[in-house]
Amino acid sequence: MPSPDPFALRVLDWFDAHGRKDLPWQRDTSPYRVWVSEIMLQQTQVKTVIPYFESFMAAFPDVQALAAAPEDAVLHLWTGLGYYARARNLHRAAKQVAGSMRGQFPASLEGLCELPGIGRSTAGAILSIAFGQRASILDGNVKRVLARYHRVDGWPGQSAVHQQLWEIAERHTPTERCADYTQAMMDLGATLCTRSAPDCERCPLATDCQALAHGDQRDYPGKKPRKVMPVKATCFLIVRSADDEIWLEKRPPSGIWGGLWCFPEIDAAATATQQCLDRWGTEPASVEVRPGFRHTFSHYHLDITPVVAQLDSTPHAVMEASQQLWYNLRQPPRIGLAAPVAALLAQLVEFGANANPETGAQTDTHGVLRMSRMVFCKKYKKEMEGLDKPPYPGPKGQDVFDNVSKQAWQDWQSHQTMLINEKHLSLVDPEARKYLQGEMDKYFSGEDYDRAEGYVPPTK
Ligand code: SF4
Repeated sequence: MPSPDPFALRVLDWFDAHGRKDLPWQRDTSPYRVWVSEIMLQQTQVKTVIPYFESFMAAFPDVQALAAAPEDAVLHLWTGLGYYARARNLHRAAKQVAGSMRGQFPASLEGLCELPGIGRSTAGAILSIAFGQRASILDGNVKRVLARYHRVDGWPGQSAVHQQLWEIAERHTPTERCADYTQAMMDLGATLCTRSAPDCERCPLATDCQALAHGDQRDYPGKKPRKVMPVKATCFLIVRSADDEIWLEKRPPSGIWGGLWCFPEIDAAATATQQCLDRWGTEPASVEVRPGFRHTFSHYHLDITPVVAQLDSTPHAVMEASQQLWYNLRQPPRIGLAAPVAALLAQLVEFGANANPETGAQTDTHGVLRMSRMVFCKKYKKEMEGLDKPPYPGPKGQDVFDNVSKQAWQDWQSHQTMLINEKHLSLVDPEARKYLQGEMDKYFSGEDYDRAEGYVPPTK
């Protein structure tokens, strides 16, 4: 019998001492729970997933419950998690498992990969964690660890590089304790071998990590060749009835926000009145163009201008009822909403029709003047309540004011405190301030940045 791979042994020892063992999907392990968690964890951090996973399990405790649920109920519980194709595929796969497979998940790589939304890495995670089989994974975290450890050149999106990483992943996968190894590799990538600040001092692979030996960890994995994202523009026509309801339409199943509910889109704000006449047979009492914002997809930016048309009646829906509805702001139905739509509806609920889009001054439903503004938060990639004023003067403060939510700013403040304590930084040291500035840029943008060259944190 071949002797165990020292790489895997070190990873497992590290997992025993430091790995995460109390995540919700690690309790009552089943193929269903592991599958749902793995789909939610694609492109999404553990701390974001946990509350979604728990609500999802409360609503759909098993694959039969998920299969029987209406798609809107599934998308509703996915609202805010993004990448909605994941939810639609999850629902389709649940129907297959609950139907022709009689509730039994396939226990083979091939069988799992035939289900919608399950690729080789997700199948590997399900096989190893839920079925106790030897199977490899290669998610984003694992790619990063392996690319650095072996100093694999090239962008993992290229098929030759991808193939090379799979071969390495297979080679290191142990025959024993494969479930723990799978979890360990995901944890290692998420907590130590992070994208911008690998904590090599605490890494069990540090002794022979090739990237660490060369001091170029941040060059691996290779970056995707950059291309400029195109910018598209649209107007959301927010039609508000006399009964304070908002007109929504269900999007086609494929394409952006597929299957989710949105406002109708129009080409230009100037056509809003005509659209109301054509579609609802009534001229709006008022039309108000609100400040635009940017929503970014993986392949383009979409500049959205909200146009609120207030009607003085509530026309009946005239087309297919299952595809259109008057959305009651006070008693919202459980449907899946596109993220910017959810944010705009929340604004309407909070501030009624009284917001002044020019000044940002808003009166709430009791007529009390309030200040609030929404921003498309760089950190959380969604519309959120913005800061009331720039945190400090100059372009940097303006940038934070324009692009960072209150929540993200508070989270950064906690993170910064942790950095100051951990690295014994002195805030009167200009180099320390420069370092924190760089960390802040990285925290909000996720982009690489230039660290202060030669910076060494002052010792206590
Ligand atoms: S030593 Fe550093 S770069 Fe290498 S795998 Fe560990 S954390 Fe990543």
